[in-house]
Amino acid sequence: MRVNRIISFIHEYLFPARCAICQTVLLDIDEAVFGLCADCASLFAIPTQKRCALCGRFLASEQTYCAECRNEKTPHSFDRVICLYPYTGRYRQLLTAYKFGEKVAVGNFLAQKIIEASALFPEPLAKPFLVPVPPRQGKIKGCGWDQVEYLAHSLERERRYGAAAVPPVKRCLKRLLSQTQKHLNSRQRKANLAGRILCTAAAPQQAILFDDVYTTGSTMESCAAALKKGGADQVYGICLFHTELKENT
Ligand SMILES: [Zn+2]
Ligand SMILES: [Zn+2]
Repeated sequence: MRVNRIISFIHEYLFPARCAICQTVLLDIDEAVFGLCADCASLFAIPTQKRCALCGRFLASEQTYCAECRNEKTPHSFDRVICLYPYTGRYRQLLTAYKFGEKVAVGNFLAQKIIEASALFPEPLAKPFLVPVPPRQGKIKGCGWDQVEYLAHSLERERRYGAAAVPPVKRCLKRLLSQTQKHLNSRQRKANLAGRILCTAAAPQQAILFDDVYTTGSTMESCAAALKKGGADQVYGICLFHTELKENT
């Protein structure tokens, strides 16, 4: 985190940062690095609520799988995904500040959560690689930056400057031109992405995909399918946020 700290220090000196949640001016360098005051950061411990054992979304019932995963006709290509936060309330506020408010420091905080989550899979992974979900072509042009790629950079910095437990990042997926997914339903999303995500290098045997939001799971699914086709044995996933499950029984 040394480089992060120096960059943040200079930046903070010139433009004092504010907490992404409560807007307090951040005078502490550790807080500035993460874009959150200590009090607000403490609100984002990874919830321990029961999750679907496959897609990782929160469950309201004591079932093992959510209704969507139970009713799925074709098996998923990923072995298991963990979603960290619901996309509501303060969690939504955090992602909005990062993604649309361009509070990039929050990305360093979210990268820490990805590291934390990579240790949460029930089966310990021997030699995993972190694989970012590639952006839709034209996305960077449209919104100026790639939020998932920023997380990848932050994870690499963490690994380079001492956190040996951070798995290496491998960018081996590419997304071909496809429509924006925003207004498509689950079936349309799957069709839209079919064959549009490719593995452009040898896939790691154990991959942990990471993305910002899990909506219908079609992006995770297409990425996992491409990785398995590229030679991966196990594909796990971490999504920072998930949109609400329609049916929670
Ligand atoms: Zn705060
Ligand atoms: Zn599920």
